[in-house]
This record gives sequence, structure tokens and C-alpha cells, in this order.
Amino acid sequence: MDLTGVFKDKKPRFSLEIFPPKDHTGGVETIYETLDGLKDVRPEFISCTYGAGGNLADSSTIEICSIIKEKYGILPISHLTCVNNTKEDIDVILTRLREKGIMNILALRGDLKPGQEPKNDFVHASDLVTYIKEFDPGFFISGACYPEGHPDSSDLITDVLDLKRKVDCGTGHLISQLFFNNEDFYRFLDRCELAGINVPIEAGIMPVTNKQSILRMVSMCGASIPAKLSKILNRFENNPKALEEACIAYAIDQIIDLISNDVDGIHLYTMNKPYLAKRIFDVIEPMR
Ligand code: FAD
Repeated sequence: MDLTGVFKDKKPRFSLEIFPPKDHTGGVETIYETLDGLKDVRPEFISCTYGAGGNLADSSTIEICSIIKEKYGILPISHLTCVNNTKEDIDVILTRLREKGIMNILALRGDLKPGQEPKNDFVHASDLVTYIKEFDPGFFISGACYPEGHPDSSDLITDVLDLKRKVDCGTGHLISQLFFNNEDFYRFLDRCELAGINVPIEAGIMPVTNKQSILRMVSMCGASIPAKLSKILNRFENNPKALEEACIAYAIDQIIDLISNDVDGIHLYTMNKPYLAKRIFDVIEPMR
């Protein structure tokens, strides 16, 4: 199974993202609860993060991708970051992925960890893409993109030209950073078209459930919060149930608009909360 054929016939495609359990005491098996809840959503693929947000359970990403593939029969995408890995580290990981038949990788630079010197073998995600393709051209590579620009980019044109370089190195599919204003995403698609980027681009949607955590997240990833969402966060910050309902409605509204605008795919950041994904997909099911 690989991603090559997934975007061929039909738009939009729907995919999900999970992360390895943060509490390791129960082992990766605790992910079963999340996956049991997500399988009914019938995603095209489920991707699993690697070392994101200070989670150091890197080896569990491969294990979880294996569970997604073997137990649930769903296509897995293994995230892989390079800035804190040497070529030897990456060789070990690629070998293990190939042994397990996991041939789809979301190749990322990764964020620099505070107090940790980066390894110098890879500087940008495109270096990792090139390296993986040389290691085994059978790997299908996805990459990250940023509708509002990556925080390190000096401007949106530089950002899209760097993205074009990443695609030219062998990235066949892009997943966007979360965004809350669809107009940002449509303007980004226009820039991609002008830059000659013609691989499928999935829109990253995150249902918000907590004001403080989303403020923390956007401060790190450079996404902005439009006035409409900001008012919801302020109005319901002390009423968790109301906030959740309002934010589910907000995410559904975004997704319906994206479907109406014929986007390639929707990638839902599930935050390992299957009931959120289920609520959203129950509404959009007839639109698939
Ligand atoms: P790059 O593509 O290397 O881009 C980073 C910056 O460098 C950009 O500003 C870009 O414009 C610039 N740049 C790129 N190439 C060049 C070049 N050749 N010359 C000069 N400048 C260049 N992090 C994790 O730790 N684990 C995860 O699992 C994870 N999953 C993610 C999934 C998605 C969908 C997204 C959007 C992000 C994810 N991240 C994850 C976060 C990601 O690691 C960070 O956003 C990181 O800062 C950038 O990674 P990148 O792969 O986009 O980097």
C-alpha cells in the first residue's frame, strides 16, 4: 500500500493525524483506544507524529504505524524529522520502516529542541527527502507546508520557493499546518500554482478544545486566530462543553467551505480524541 494512487480519482480525500501516547506507562497499546474510535471514520490514511511537542517516544511511531497497517488495515504515514538525527540514525529508521512495509513518510526538518545542539547532517527537510530517495526510491514522501508561511521564512514568496525546492527533490504530497481562516489557505494554493507546485495539498484542520493550548500552539507554529474564533474562545473559555461544541461547529464550517472549493484533501489533527473526529465526520459523511 502506498499513497501514489490515493489522490488519483476523487477529491477531497480525508486523513487523520495521531501522536504516540504521552504516558508511556501503558506502552503504545494505549493507542488502540484512539484507533478503535477513529477506524469508523474510514480515513484514506492515518499519520503518526515523531517526537513532536517534546514527546521523545520516537521508536513508538514505527510501532504505531505498524499497528495502523496490520490491525486496522489502514494506510499509515510515518512522520520523520531530521534535524536531531544523524545519517546513521536515519538509516536505522528507514531500514526498520522498510522491514515493516511502511513505505510512506512525512519528511520533516523538525524543531530545534531547547538546550540541544542540532546534528549537522541535515539542515532542511529537502535534505532528508533527497536522502530517503537515494536510500530507497520506493519510499513515497510527503512534506509539510504553511498556508501563512513558516515562522522562519522571511516572506511568503521565499516560503513558497523553498517549498517548490522540497517538492522538486521528490516530495509527492503536502499536508498543511493548521489554519483557521480558509482564505489564507486559498491564497497559499494560488502561490503554489504560480510557483509550479502541482502535487496534492491537504488542508490541515484542528478542532480547538482549549483556549490556552491553542494559543500556545499558534504562538509556536505561526498560525493566526481570526476575530470570529477569538470571540468564541473568549466567550466560552470557562465553559468547556460550550467551547467544544462551538469549535466543532467552527471546524465543520471550515471543512464544508473547503469541500465546496474543491480542495485535494482534508487532514484532521485529531489530538488523539476520536470522539471529536467522529462528531465532525458524522456531519460531513454525506459530502464524501
Ligand atoms: P523545512 O521544509 O526545512 O522548512 C523550514 C524552514 O526552512 C522554512 O522557513 C523554509 O522556508 C526554510 N527552508 C526550507 N528549505 C530551504 C532551503 N533549501 N534553503 C533555505 N531555507 C529553506 N514536528 C515534529 O517534531 N514531529 C512531527 O511529527 C511533526 N509533524 C508535522 C506535521 C505537519 C503536517 C506540519 C505542518 C508540521 C509538523 N511538524 C512536526 C513541525 C515541523 O517539524 C516544523 O514546522 C519545522 O519547524 C519545519 O519543518 P519542515 O519540514 O516544514 O521544514
